Amino acid sequence: VEQYLIRINEHRHLNAFTEIYADEARQQAEAVDQKIADGTAGRLAGMVIGIKDVLSYTGHGVRAGSHILDNFTAQFTATAVQRLLNEDVIIIGRQNCDEFAMGSSNENSSFGPVLNAADTSRVPGGSSGGSAVAVQAGLCLASIGSDTGGSVRQPAAFCGVVGLKPTYGRISRWGLIAYASSFDCIGPIANTVDDAALLLEIMAGADDFDSTVSSQPVSAYTQATLPNRPLRIAYLRDGVESSGVDQTIREATQAKINALQNAGHTVEPVDISLLKYLLPTYYILTTAEASSNLSRFDGVRYGYRSVSADTSALDLLTLYKKSRTEGFGAEVRRRILLGTFVLSASYYDAYYTKAQQVRRLIRQEAEQLFEKYDFLVSPTTPTPAFRLGEKTDYPLQMYLADIFTVQANVIGYPAISIPNGTDASGLPIGLQLMAPPFAEGALVALAKQMY
Ligand code: GLN
Repeated sequence: VEQYLIRINEHRHLNAFTEIYADEARQQAEAVDQKIADGTAGRLAGMVIGIKDVLSYTGHGVRAGSHILDNFTAQFTATAVQRLLNEDVIIIGRQNCDEFAMGSSNENSSFGPVLNAADTSRVPGGSSGGSAVAVQAGLCLASIGSDTGGSVRQPAAFCGVVGLKPTYGRISRWGLIAYASSFDCIGPIANTVDDAALLLEIMAGADDFDSTVSSQPVSAYTQATLPNRPLRIAYLRDGVESSGVDQTIREATQAKINALQNAGHTVEPVDISLLKYLLPTYYILTTAEASSNLSRFDGVRYGYRSVSADTSALDLLTLYKKSRTEGFGAEVRRRILLGTFVLSASYYDAYYTKAQQVRRLIRQEAEQLFEKYDFLVSPTTPTPAFRLGEKTDYPLQMYLADIFTVQANVIGYPAISIPNGTDASGLPIGLQLMAPPFAEGALVALAKQMY
């Protein structure tokens, strides 16, 4: 704990943490020491982690990177966090992220941007940027992030660490501040696949507080092995051929594909015919869900209330409007407006219903693909980490950073990003592996072989 506190202090300029729990972490460490002496220590005894600022931890602030939750304190602990604590994890602090997990660069945080430790003029990716940089810079051993469209995998790729998004419903969302409920997944970021697998194993499983969580038994992911036969592996043709993907990334991906082929596996290119509909479907559905989820932040029940609203006049509508206008940042406001639009009476069928139908088609196409293949391989991102400010004025370009990651959330499948070398200037490259629902065991087993 002391070592990490020193390193955190030396790396304050990265802005990875929004709050450090120094004294509490020291106390936790002492308690763990005692348990080790008593022989009662849990499986994570001594593991120092950070948690993204969207996870509730009772008695601690939780802000989702937003002014609207100023001074808000969590009233209970997220199931995933509690399960880690039950195994004696030590929580050293909470980590910076894009506001309400909306973003791909961590530039949408009210705490300011996070810097990539590989090159501080570059973004760390988002929205779990602080969580990825904290692992990258050795400020904690692992982090817990959330992934709605790539927010664990994309920053992991930009920072050269491992990021795992489990199957939708594998980990309870109780205590995770909602962005888009039918997409949101909690996931670990770590230095090794083994650490990520262990954290998943402990966080996963049934929970009475989340009706969408799966009751499928949790297997020992850390012990998982691959079937004793050549694997059937598909790779995304666009990932190695499209001119929209950086050449170094295409080459690094091709090298991994060749290695799989040389190991005797069946490796074949595939096209996703609905690829160009992935981002539109994702953004219509997630903004719709976000506009509904974020309606609870009204200036009355949580955190920030506009000081300029005249509460004595009891003009509730003005209070809502001012609090929400002042409390939410530009990207969150943009998404609430877009979501409200696609859900409005005259456009509901044209946008929301249509996007739901396309979501089903995308899922069907994936089901067919995974009848033939065990895994789908692609780059995690089309480019390495871009410069701070480079895409802030171009939201559509920013959204393209998620082109390879959103599919897993649209269909609810598990996917992992593992480091795949660096480009000529030393910027990390990520490789993504995807597997069918609840095949996290095989997924981490293959990831381990490849990293
Ligand atoms: N960048 C994507 C978005 O802005 C994904 C975010 C996430 O996974 N939370 O929606």
